[in-house]
Amino acid sequence: SIYGDYIKSVIRTVPDWPNPGVNFRDITPLLQNSAAFRKLIDSFVHRYQEMDIDAVAAIDARGFIVGAPLAYELGCSFVPVRKKGKLPFRTISETYTLEYGEAEVELHSDAFQSGDRILIVDDLIATGGTMLAAAKLISRSGGQVVETATIVDLPDLGGSQRIREAKYSVFAVCS
Ligand code: 5GP
Repeated sequence: SIYGDYIKSVIRTVPDWPNPGVNFRDITPLLQNSAAFRKLIDSFVHRYQEMDIDAVAAIDARGFIVGAPLAYELGCSFVPVRKKGKLPFRTISETYTLEYGEAEVELHSDAFQSGDRILIVDDLIATGGTMLAAAKLISRSGGQVVETATIVDLPDLGGSQRIREAKYSVFAVCS
């Protein structure tokens, strides 16, 4: 994307966090920099403003940071996709496997209308497990997943490839 190199330059890598050997991509310097944050949101707005998006489905928790201003700018719904046990009303959920154990994402059963055009957003795609679970959940609920969008893709981990193999489109601001 046009601001990809710039956005990448304001993301910090924290070695050995949360575990030894992990290079955590920390987006807080990007959020702290108002010009960078504006360029980030504008990158998504520019890509999606003519795509007739009915709802931005954002993944708990860093996906919310991007999803809320994006939904506001697109003039569409904001739908939270949350970790298990956080949503108060009737939910549907999707379980997926992590390196150690399982995780679950949830959606309110009345979050959107069947056939609605949904954009899913998160901050980062690593193994792709979280984004793929969210996409499956939205498909199962009758939503049409227009695209899955992320700030950062880590292509060496194969997540974006895995999501594309499941026939979902992937957009990343930077890799
Ligand atoms: P995946 O399910 O693709 O393996 O992991 C992606 C999910 O974990 C995203 O929801 C993302 O917020 C979080 N995540 C995993 N690794 C990182 C990282 O290095 N940086 C950030 N910001 N989030 C990460």
